[in-house]
Amino acid sequence: MNKGLLSVDDALKLLLSEARPVADVEELATLEATGRVLARAQRSTMDVPPMDNSAMDGYAVRVSDLKGKNSLKVSQKIMAGSVGKPLEPGGAARIFTGAPVPQGADAIVMQEHCTVEGDQVVVNKIPKLHEWIRRTGSDIRKGSEILGAGKRLEPQDTGLAASVGLRTLPVYRKVRLGLFFTGDELVMPGEPLAPGRIYNSNRFTLRGLAETFRCEVRDYGIVPDSLEATREVLRRAAGECDLIVTSGGVSVGEADFVKPAVEAEGSLLMWRIAMKPGRPLAFGRVGRAFFIGLPGNPVSSFVTFLVFVRPFLLKTQGSEKTSPTVIAARADFDWPQPDPRREFLRVKWNSQGGLELYPTQDSAVLASTSWADGLVDNPPGHVIRKGDSVKFLPYSELYR
Ligand code: AMP
Ligand code: MG
Repeated sequence: MNKGLLSVDDALKLLLSEARPVADVEELATLEATGRVLARAQRSTMDVPPMDNSAMDGYAVRVSDLKGKNSLKVSQKIMAGSVGKPLEPGGAARIFTGAPVPQGADAIVMQEHCTVEGDQVVVNKIPKLHEWIRRTGSDIRKGSEILGAGKRLEPQDTGLAASVGLRTLPVYRKVRLGLFFTGDELVMPGEPLAPGRIYNSNRFTLRGLAETFRCEVRDYGIVPDSLEATREVLRRAAGECDLIVTSGGVSVGEADFVKPAVEAEGSLLMWRIAMKPGRPLAFGRVGRAFFIGLPGNPVSSFVTFLVFVRPFLLKTQGSEKTSPTVIAARADFDWPQPDPRREFLRVKWNSQGGLELYPTQDSAVLASTSWADGLVDNPPGHVIRKGDSVKFLPYSELYR
């Protein structure tokens, strides 16, 4: 069983032991930094909020003024963006959400708990000390870390950086990812499909993935099944890219030139991996570029990209987190045939909160990947019964 096959985890370990974050860091406008990976931890140079301010539209009061009486004279009005005068004894300030609390006030009474009578406000509910006041630094303390190094910046992260006034952020430069697709049978949509030909669907899937992961993509297109053509594009790509990813030509058939080409231009390890779909995977180096050769089969190249290229790429991008979050989910299907290889099954949520299985798990059926919401990671030799908890990798997790 699994003779001569490498486990997914061992292959991943080998891959990740070679990956290094790109050395170059650029200082990018915070407004442009969403999706990029932060190169250095960021600390706040200020308290947030920077001053005590009102969490409500209402009246700023001094709680001790409300002992024995509940009517106060409204002596000023403070809008967000303006600063009021110190609160007079026995006085109240009309105040709006976000406006600074005037000196001397120690609570806000929400306007729903007040009645206005001429220039007086009647407080119908005595506030607790500091009620509805957002205290200085209660959200972020000056000097505290707000974003860790290696974090991929999501919209809320750049928002957070902006909230403490950071105009630029240090991020790793984009990874230059080269793609090419081997196979004399390949044509592009729009070209006539002569007998024996197929459309180059991998170009769309893999380029889409590379763009999803915010690479700077160099797409070298279709490369014919010849040693010279493969060597030539490898040389070119190696001079321009950090990582070269290809599809097809890594089996050991007569038309598989990836292995000899990478060996001639650099160095290569050929792996047969105990996974399904997947199996052949090539890992090597050409010049300064790394090389990962995926199988040609469309489902296999898609899955192996997510399982192997994704973490390698994330680490090269400087990302701290390279393994996707696995979600425990209920299988609403049976998978009765144990397979000695680790399987990645195409599944979809149903409306009962369980997972349905695409009826054919054949690795040539690309429709399964499009139908699915993600992959079940099924360990080698494991049978699934309806109702079992399984390890689910949603696309939404795999794509970040
Ligand atoms: P290979 O690994 O080159 O032997 O290819 C395995 C299978 O995947 C063959 O049936 C190929 O026709 C198919 N294939 C290879 N490259 C692509 C591609 N770019 N798009 C769609 N199918 C492909
Ligand atoms: Mg081929």
